[in-house]
Amino acid sequence: MNDFSETISLQSDAAPTAPAPFDDLPGFDSMLARLSARLITLRPAEVDAAIAAGLGSIVEALDVDRCALLRLDPDGRSFTRVGIFTRAGLRTSPLHERVFGYPWCIERINRGQSVIFSTADELPPEAHVDKASFNKAGSQSMASIPLVVAGEIYGTLNFLSLDRRREWSEALLSRVRLVAEILGNTIARKHVQEENQRLLAFEQMLVEVAASLISLAPGDVDSAVSNGLQRMAEFLHAERATLWAFDRGSDDLLPGHCWRSANAPEPARVRGRDLPSFMARLKSGWVVRIDGPEESSAAVVSHDRDTLRALGSVSLLALPLKVSGVVVGAISLDTVHTRRAWPEALEPRVRLLGEVFATALARQQAERSMREAQAEAAQHRERLAHIARVHTVGEMSAGITHEVSQPLVAIENYALAARRHAAAGPAANHAKLCELLDKIAAQSSRAGAVMRKLRTMVKRHELEMKRVRIDQIVEESLRFARMEGHLHDVAITLRVAPGLPEVIADDIQIQQVIVNLVRNASDAMSEAANAGASKDLVIEVGALGEAQVFVRIEDTGVGFGEGALERIFEAFFTTKSAGLGIGLSLCRAIVEAHGGRVDGRARPGGGAIFEFTLPIAEEIDQ
Ligand code: ADP
Repeated sequence: MNDFSETISLQSDAAPTAPAPFDDLPGFDSMLARLSARLITLRPAEVDAAIAAGLGSIVEALDVDRCALLRLDPDGRSFTRVGIFTRAGLRTSPLHERVFGYPWCIERINRGQSVIFSTADELPPEAHVDKASFNKAGSQSMASIPLVVAGEIYGTLNFLSLDRRREWSEALLSRVRLVAEILGNTIARKHVQEENQRLLAFEQMLVEVAASLISLAPGDVDSAVSNGLQRMAEFLHAERATLWAFDRGSDDLLPGHCWRSANAPEPARVRGRDLPSFMARLKSGWVVRIDGPEESSAAVVSHDRDTLRALGSVSLLALPLKVSGVVVGAISLDTVHTRRAWPEALEPRVRLLGEVFATALARQQAERSMREAQAEAAQHRERLAHIARVHTVGEMSAGITHEVSQPLVAIENYALAARRHAAAGPAANHAKLCELLDKIAAQSSRAGAVMRKLRTMVKRHELEMKRVRIDQIVEESLRFARMEGHLHDVAITLRVAPGLPEVIADDIQIQQVIVNLVRNASDAMSEAANAGASKDLVIEVGALGEAQVFVRIEDTGVGFGEGALERIFEAFFTTKSAGLGIGLSLCRAIVEAHGGRVDGRARPGGGAIFEFTLPIAEEIDQ
């Protein structure tokens, strides 16, 4: 046997040599062929058992006492025995046991160097701990070959002679290395397959989470995002998964949705000025991956340590999130207790999931803003409508005086007549008195009804959609228009199609539309009447297809001047000296808010036609 240190250098650095002619192990080559053939076809779940079974044939073919497969533990200080076969009749060691007491060997294996000795006495003095362990375990001779899996040290394959001393010829060692290489490749293939399965499962989860976010009502997005974060964190064994948003106006990151395991603390605001390098990396669209403080100090540079401390993390993966190409925040996965590594293959997937979350949240925000804008528009419309109604009532003052003073005059007359009858004493006509009193009551309720209607018009009210009959609204509106006093010299034709369905509408607003259109028609006809034209107003109410009703108002007024038709619905467009120019724009806003349309056009033969539609109630109910 060579001097031990020479053996070491020979074993560790020598390139795998071609097997020397080897006659004393006749079954080896066929065993190796069988083992390779078997290992190559396995599914990942079958690999460990097949390797364990293969160790028996290796012991047999190499004529050793024991073959053991040891996996290096993550802390790099011990092994775990993951496979062992001991020749029958010899003492054995349990599987899945942590193996301590070999620091010198572990250091060599970690460097990719073999440990080979015929007797533990060959070990150098600095290996005294290991030597004692070998003696205690009763291992005479050993060849320990590093197992390299996908370029990394996975562990070691140990060939041991227990009771008898064994020389390790170069020919034997070349076989032993071949076996280690085959097992290393098998384990590597298993890892690749397992990784692929994991990625596939991750992809499946990603698709499910993304799909769950697509069809959600805005109110459900928050809980679906939290749920998705939880699934991702649990899948990747992270203790927290957090979505961050850059605070507007500062460089800080604010935690938004977060899932955390029971004993992980809540993430807090991260100040940009405390972690300039971390923020700069994220803002430039780069990933921040920090596997943990136990890495060599060169790998964990000081700003990484600062980042981990600030976030309360042990290991961290943070990816910038972009919406429409702009970095708006980040998604992070971290651990707060145990250190772990973040495989690079995860990054695009986590990023994708983060962007799915960010897009869903952005959509939710957009929908919220839209609803707020709609609510604001509705409020604005209502304010405008109120102004217009007050304006209308102002215009109607002459009509109101007429409507109210008529019943008052009648009441006065009936009361005077009743007084006269009563003055006749016991001879008074009782029946006549009762009749007069009834008339007084009827006239005062008429005056009361007018006042109530007026109050409703000037009162502000919230939009109140209900089932209403459009013909009734039209008739009511005409009563109002009459009060304005415009229609007294107008010939009105009202045509209502029979059996019209109800519409869903706010009756006050629709009345306002009709009163506006009728008033405009009346104004236009008054103007035309100066030139001697007749004043004919035709109002038609009917069904338009199966889903809508229409109200059409035709007048024989002046019609539209040059270029006016295109502008009449613009707010503040008016051709009248005392006009406000808001009537038609308000009509359009109201009708469109009801899901209908309003249009104006020239009437063949002079005048104008205005028409609006409303969806029928059944259509909305569906
Ligand atoms: P205003 O009545 O205060 O002018 P509107 O918005 O109701 O405000 O109407 C805008 C303009 O549309 C009117 O000034 C007028 O020029 C035109 N217009 C509206 N209705 C008619 C109509 N029936 N015939 C002719 N022109 C009309």
